Amino acid sequence: MADKSQPEQAAIALLRDFEERFRVAHAPPVPVERIATTLLDLLVEECDDVRSVPGAPADQGRLSGMVVPATRIIWLDRTECARSRGRRRFTIAHECGHWVLHIAGADQPVCCRPEDVSEQADVEKVRQLRRREAEANAFARELLMPESLVVEHAHATGCNLAALAERFDVSVPAIRLRLLTLGLLPAWMASVPTGPHR
Ligand SMILES: [Zn+2]
Repeated sequence: MADKSQPEQAAIALLRDFEERFRVAHAPPVPVERIATTLLDLLVEECDDVRSVPGAPADQGRLSGMVVPATRIIWLDRTECARSRGRRRFTIAHECGHWVLHIAGADQPVCCRPEDVSEQADVEKVRQLRRREAEANAFARELLMPESLVVEHAHATGCNLAALAERFDVSVPAIRLRLLTLGLLPAWMASVPTGPHR
């Protein structure tokens, strides 16, 4: 695992910690909400508009999620959650990534828009925020679709995307991208478009 990035290593360590402490088997689907609530001691809540949560920026467009250090709450957009269970799980994992990687003692909430960050912020801040979003996404992918488990189940199912998505409780585009980046997708499948990511 020496070639793993720091966010991926942090996700692997978090999952291992959870499985050891709560004697949970290393198998998909990863119980991401239970990890957030029991291991990280966070609450997961949904609301109609995350921008209405105290402390959220009202001037940055719609938010998919936000994690607030003072209340230890992960806020999720109810509409997105209703649309896709996989999306809901991914956003929880993404917010756990911010909690583990970026919050550590800070008191400012971390807010996450569906797309990238605002162009209105200054260049250095945008660069820094984009890096943090990319790190949270790498963390989320590794937490929900650990490489060792994906390899195992990809071989067992012959890279059946629908079966894998169901087994890992993620969207088909998410598992497809994961297989692709891990070099597990047969070439003939890699060229088939599946629509927008997640
Ligand atoms: Zn984020």
